[in-house]
Amino acid sequence: MQEQGQNWEDVMSSLMQARSKDLPYEKVLSSMCTYPHPIAVEAYKMFIESNMGDYGLFMGTYELEQAILSMLGDLLHNPHPYGYLTTGGTESNIQAVRAMRNACKSINDPNIIVPASAHFSFDKIADVLKIDVRKARILSDLVVDTSHMRSLIDQNTVGLVGIAGSTEFGQVDPISELSKIAIDNHIFLHVDAAFGGFVLPFIGQHPSFDFLLPGVSSIAIDPHKMGMSIIPSGALLFREEKMMLSLKVDTPYLTISNQYTLTGTRSGASVAGTYAVMKFLGKEGYRYIVNRCMALTYLLIEEAKKIDVHPVIDPVMNIVALSVLDPKTIRKELANKFGWQVSITKQPSSIRLVVMPHMTEESIIAFVQDLKKVLEHLKTSTNTGSEKSYDFDGTGNMA
Ligand SMILES: *Cc1c(COP(=O)(O)O)cnc(C)c1O
Repeated sequence: MQEQGQNWEDVMSSLMQARSKDLPYEKVLSSMCTYPHPIAVEAYKMFIESNMGDYGLFMGTYELEQAILSMLGDLLHNPHPYGYLTTGGTESNIQAVRAMRNACKSINDPNIIVPASAHFSFDKIADVLKIDVRKARILSDLVVDTSHMRSLIDQNTVGLVGIAGSTEFGQVDPISELSKIAIDNHIFLHVDAAFGGFVLPFIGQHPSFDFLLPGVSSIAIDPHKMGMSIIPSGALLFREEKMMLSLKVDTPYLTISNQYTLTGTRSGASVAGTYAVMKFLGKEGYRYIVNRCMALTYLLIEEAKKIDVHPVIDPVMNIVALSVLDPKTIRKELANKFGWQVSITKQPSSIRLVVMPHMTEESIIAFVQDLKKVLEHLKTSTNTGSEKSYDFDGTGNMA
């Protein structure tokens, strides 16, 4: 750090320069985040200094958080949930597993069982919590093999995890079956609905995944993904207070006497942003956004099929994995030649596209056109063994 402060304009100009290197979301198909709703941004700015780590000083923001929990509880069929606003799915998952472990104090060498398709936050959990994270196989339709999951349970198992909207494929595990398995074995069941929590309730026909199922003990749901809120904004909901209490730590010098959170100082601005967008949109608003994303998802698949590219599974939500031979190269070409950001999956091998609200019909069609060019280019260059230029304008004139 330099000795003397810079003037305001110089700092701003460095910021602008940095900002110009960040990608706008318009050509981003790899992210589960999007532009926050304008009302969330407005609310965020209003509460910028609010600290939920010491909410005795910010009782107004605390009330907003309670209102969010009650709205989320309504959405997820639990009128009186216990929980709090986290920094995202990772923190929610860590805390859910920590609560399971703490609630089973008598087990010395605890383990949990997650689907092999679980988010990488569960690898962090194994490391941070020093708990054995066992991975159950997934079947060809990319849901967890429940009989394999059942077979991995032993006397040290404290809980199971089911995914409602897997990060890679948007698939939903058979949570109702997992609920039965959890009840049969007297263990907890955490549902990772970080992405799907703001999608599934708004699509007409969807499998049960929430507190309606009696075995579900906690749910992670992220307002900063399909909830249209600002980053960071996640949420963790428990069915029973006792799980929340198992996270309690005394906080002697604060206005509150204890904390259940993982972080200490915690953004009240995030709380305000999430409250504002949920209140403003209502179920109707979210339904509109989700239906629009689903329509774009179907459009994407329809267009892809026209160029003989097919999805790995029929989409359950607004995530599409397109089966291709060399996803790595295709990803690189899409980015370098056309500016599209896509991600890839290994097993099965595909390019993964998250159809977020920043996409439009035009951008979906343009994307598939560019994908077509990449695929044709790869075909000719492998056939002739030589690098050929792109037919950028589609007229047959090589650039
Ligand atoms: C995104 C995601 C997470 C992680 O959430 P962060 O907000 O990035 O911490 C966890 N689980 C699932 C299923 C996700 O999609």
